[in-house]
Amino acid sequence: MNCADIRRLLHAHVDGELDAANSLELERHLKTCAECATEAKSLRSFSAALREAPGLYSRAPASLRNHVRELAGESKGESRARGTDLSWLWKFFAVGATAFVLLTLVLRPAGMSERDQLLNEAVAGHVRSLMVEHLMDVASSDQHTVKPWFDGKLDFAPDVKDFAADGFPLVGGRLDYLGGRAVAALVYKHNKHFINVFVWPETGDMKPETTNLRGYSIINTAAHGLRYCLVSDLNAKELGDLAGLCEK
Ligand SMILES: [Zn+2]
Repeated sequence: MNCADIRRLLHAHVDGELDAANSLELERHLKTCAECATEAKSLRSFSAALREAPGLYSRAPASLRNHVRELAGESKGESRARGTDLSWLWKFFAVGATAFVLLTLVLRPAGMSERDQLLNEAVAGHVRSLMVEHLMDVASSDQHTVKPWFDGKLDFAPDVKDFAADGFPLVGGRLDYLGGRAVAALVYKHNKHFINVFVWPETGDMKPETTNLRGYSIINTAAHGLRYCLVSDLNAKELGDLAGLCEK
């Protein structure tokens, strides 16, 4: 199996849907390939975040289970004996549910503007990064370590700077996904607060915009052909200080 094969099978593997032989071979590859291992790790975090996010995961009620069994041509009386035969059906439903959740994440709900969608995703990305302890793929305060780490992982080179002298030390970076594209997430700290700075290329100017969503401050700004989206539980004024440093 090469890396492309691995990437194709990774989702099924993380969801426990891959057969044993392929799983073994895939695990063997992950031990020797750091890039695929990183990909697997971030998929697992994503999957865990979906499972733990309130309101996204719920057990099917007994009535639905019974209805499914009836659809499968099974009377209630023999359900106990034939229960294991239905495992494929539950798997089908599990796959369907995962696909549905992913679709709702990818497709914008009706009535939500592109801007609101991006703000929601930015806050979700920030919360997820803290919740699943996947704040950083590369943990370093050295911009000369963090910047090259992104080489080959993104189709642009993010501007990575340490602002420790201004009270915003760089603590690391990771890959994330925002607005339908892979972005760089630079992680800064200010006192005890973590700040995610999402960076991606964008031509055209935009006026800096400060928003508050679900208790998080968000600042969108652009400079030097790059778009910056800063998210933190920090107050808007202090977050603005960091935005100013990014724009320099
Ligand atoms: Zn690989």
